[in-house]
Amino acid sequence: MTSHPVVIVGGGLAGLRAAIAAADSGVEAAVFSQVYPVRSHSGAAQGGINAPLGNAEKGRHDSWERQALDTVKGSDYLADQDAVEVLCKEAAGDVYQLEHWGVPFSRTLEGRIAQRPFGGADFPRTCYAADKTGRYLLHTLYEQSVKRRIKIYPEWAALTLVTDGDACQGVIVYHLPSGRLEAVAAGSVVFGTGGCGQVYARSTNSLINTGGGMAMAYHAGVPLEDMEFVQFHPTTLVGTNILITEAGRGEGGYLLNAGGERFMKEYAAEAMELAPRDIVARAIATEIDEGRGFEDSYILLDLRHLGREMIIERLPEIRNHSIYFAGVDPVEKPIPVQPGQHYSMGGIDCNIDGETELKGFFAAGECACVSVHGANRLGGNSLLETVLFGRRAGVRAVEHARGATTSANPTLLEKKKDELSEKLGSLLAGKGQEDPSAIRNEMKNTMFEEVGIFRRRDEMKQALGKLSGLRERYAWLRPVKSHRAYNLDLLRAYELAGMLDLAEITAMGALAREESRGSHFRVDFPSRDDGSWLRHTIARKGLAGPELSYEKVTVTRWPPQARKY
Ligand SMILES: Cc1cc2nc3c(=O)[nH]c(=O)nc-3n(C[C@H](O)[C@H](O)[C@H](O)COP(=O)(O)OP(=O)(O)OC[C@H]3O[C@@H](n4cnc5c(N)ncnc54)[C@H](O)[C@@H]3O)c2cc1C
Repeated sequence: MTSHPVVIVGGGLAGLRAAIAAADSGVEAAVFSQVYPVRSHSGAAQGGINAPLGNAEKGRHDSWERQALDTVKGSDYLADQDAVEVLCKEAAGDVYQLEHWGVPFSRTLEGRIAQRPFGGADFPRTCYAADKTGRYLLHTLYEQSVKRRIKIYPEWAALTLVTDGDACQGVIVYHLPSGRLEAVAAGSVVFGTGGCGQVYARSTNSLINTGGGMAMAYHAGVPLEDMEFVQFHPTTLVGTNILITEAGRGEGGYLLNAGGERFMKEYAAEAMELAPRDIVARAIATEIDEGRGFEDSYILLDLRHLGREMIIERLPEIRNHSIYFAGVDPVEKPIPVQPGQHYSMGGIDCNIDGETELKGFFAAGECACVSVHGANRLGGNSLLETVLFGRRAGVRAVEHARGATTSANPTLLEKKKDELSEKLGSLLAGKGQEDPSAIRNEMKNTMFEEVGIFRRRDEMKQALGKLSGLRERYAWLRPVKSHRAYNLDLLRAYELAGMLDLAEITAMGALAREESRGSHFRVDFPSRDDGSWLRHTIARKGLAGPELSYEKVTVTRWPPQARKY
């Protein structure tokens, strides 16, 4: 059995930032990550990170209050406003910290950090490094981790969160290169395991974004919050659904339908292409559904008027993606785009210090729901969330580990390891002929088609029926390939059970919520209903499946209002 005072699962921005905070508090932290940290999905982030740096524009100065109002309004008033205040008050400090650590932010002519306009923001507030912001942030935090000699265990996947019913004891991890299981005891465990985009078809997320951390927490009895709120990004490349960053529109790109019209004037006359993502995604889906798209599947993002120089300087990555994956150079031709799954607003229910209901267990980043995004996240607020709440969770995890009065129970950890070993053994042996990848694909398509951008009661009921059928088939999987080294077949088969749970929780929450709010649009209940639904959905594991309950939304100074752009 291995033991560390603070164990962090996840080597993305949230995990690394938590590890750095723990190391700076003088406690040894170990990071377990399924992939090498710099290959985490954070590295794919393009557009930027939000912070009110007080820069002036047209005689106005940006402020934390402006960012907070934009975030709350963007969230369709479902975000907890006390948490949003923390996010916006501390944002500038975190961004300057990143700058001092070496992030090569793009600059203004005066040498300040450059900021670009982003959807739903009333000020150019998104700090960026060309259109590769996530990659620069991730490499910088990795450097800072190496500098602090933080112990990193790459290619170790956590498969079980161990609890004695009262407090978290540690995790059971699986070593991909050798197939070995290890019990890891911990004073505190922090999850920075990222999102669950792979539960949906047409996702911009990496293949490893399977929501394993959320599922582990749920199985350990920790509730998940607001899982029905799934962000669909308006612009993903047709065919591959690779993200085409909002920065394309932030820098002035137009969206055009098959009639050559800038159709956003019909949906958000003032904000146009820079309305929040939920509104733009629905507008595009409507244009396509009503026959004003191309080949019934896409519309165009036109950047040509920005000019070659600007595209090459500010949007080099999306230019490359368009050339390599769609054969279109945006300098010369518009990019064919369609909406795709992008981000999970919901996640592990936790507070502003990452604390969950389970003592000693913390969450930060996309796997967590603090909640600062409510029903719709603004672009640029997620990178901010990862570093800011990663830092806070790291600090609180150290305090908890230092104050812990009891130590981990080795017998319990070894028992859980044996149980997991048996479970993996039964997957290797197989009970039937079902192919896990076929089940996975059916789940993904069902979620995209029936619990997608536009939701209807009958379709969601049908989706729940299909999911329960898939779960029955999961019990009859074919034997998994039995090699020990890098047995991704085994890992994917194991994870699929958790993905089916997340899909079911999402569909149940969406079916129950009889209103439209942010990313959750019910064709049969098209209006927001604050009287009945200004509340968070909490999903707990019950004996017969997920059990839903509801919690109050914290409103501090921005009472709900109609959301107009
Ligand atoms: C293409 C794309 C572009 C984006 N652009 C932006 C942007 O411009 N601005 C913005 O604000 N947001 C953006 N986002 C969202 C943002 O990038 C993510 O929400 C954020 O980076 C998530 O960071 P994270 O640290 O929580 O998780 P991730 O970066 O996803 O890292 C998760 C980590 O957990 C590890 N892990 C997962 N499960 C396990 C397990 N079971 N055991 C061990 N390790 C595990 C993985 O190995 C990985 O290291 C973008 C997202 C995508 C997909």
